[in-house]
Amino acid sequence: MKTKTKHYLSKNVENLKPSGIRKFFDLAANMEGVISLGVGEPDFVTSWTVREAAILSLEQGYTSYTANAGLAELREEITKYMEIGFGVKYDWREEVIVTVGASQAIDLALRAIIDPGDEVIVVEPSFVSYVPLVQLAGGVAVTVETKPENGFKLQASELKEAITPKTKAVLLCSPNNPTGTLLTKEDLEGLTDVIKENDLLVISDEIYAELAYDDQHVSVAALEEMRERTILVNGFSKGFAMTGWRLGFLCAPAEISKAMLKIHQYSMMCAPTPAQFGALEALVNGMGDVAEMKRSYHLRRNYFVTSLNELGLSCHTPGGAFYAFPSIEATGLSSEQFAEQLLLEQKVAVVPGNVFGKGGEGHIRCSYATSMEQLQEAVKRIKKFVEKKI
Ligand code: PMP
Repeated sequence: MKTKTKHYLSKNVENLKPSGIRKFFDLAANMEGVISLGVGEPDFVTSWTVREAAILSLEQGYTSYTANAGLAELREEITKYMEIGFGVKYDWREEVIVTVGASQAIDLALRAIIDPGDEVIVVEPSFVSYVPLVQLAGGVAVTVETKPENGFKLQASELKEAITPKTKAVLLCSPNNPTGTLLTKEDLEGLTDVIKENDLLVISDEIYAELAYDDQHVSVAALEEMRERTILVNGFSKGFAMTGWRLGFLCAPAEISKAMLKIHQYSMMCAPTPAQFGALEALVNGMGDVAEMKRSYHLRRNYFVTSLNELGLSCHTPGGAFYAFPSIEATGLSSEQFAEQLLLEQKVAVVPGNVFGKGGEGHIRCSYATSMEQLQEAVKRIKKFVEKKI
């Protein structure tokens, strides 16, 4: 007889909803000839020199733990990268932690600051992990909807309205997943004024910082008086095409870094050593490859977003990342219906907007991090699909 096991589970975990993205990947995985615009990862293989550096580190026998916060040389390079690239100075000894992806960085940031019941403002549509991670840390996610007519940019007045005496932090993400929205310095300043007035902290997810097309990426920490109230999250997954290496980093004022490092040393020890050697090479010699990949995404963005608009799927121009987030309202379908029918009828996988929270319904997320040939074929198929529905 099977033993019942459900009662062993924590209430907190039981209450988490499974991610809505998975369902479509599982469906697509069992079909042939599917063009996937579903997954949020680069189509490039990591640069050879980066792979070679990791291989070499293994050949040389660097197989033990690094310092909890990560290899000293890598942390030093991260501080140079942050200063030269984004104009923010950090002390590599006390203010940088190398993490297992940006995912662990976000988790550490939340766990270090949340007491039970503390509120964290999450801007939706948002990356699917934010709300569950806030909840797992014992906090309450207060979601604020951004609107297509504002280019999915959070307005200062909307932020103000969401703040309560329990608000501890605001989670910002620019360039954004899933909308591709890139916040300019002026956009950010409107928000940071409110953040400073209310003495809040910002967790700034800048994982797509390298993929900003129309304007420069502006780091929240670089804005006046924001360094001390920002936990900056970044990593190698997207711009450097290193998702499987599982390597990210955190930059934050020393006191906050120390708190995050306490959790990190008990729960993770350190990020994988070979991956850290790869990342070191990526920062020292890999920026040319990053720029080349960015140029390629930029061309694909222009083609794909123009095509979607021509098909009647109205799409704001995403300033960064590698996602288009068109409206599907003209079809009269819900985002789940659209995604399911498009997959079954035309074999194109996209993600329904509703999985990204408030404001996501009525949209689909398409990743254009796939070859131009695949994109062109996807456009042909979406055209056939949409012509029948509109
Ligand atoms: N933040 C955002 C906004 C993302 O889109 C992703 C990956 N989809 C992550 C964080 C996680 O990145 P990593 O692979 O570095 O854990």
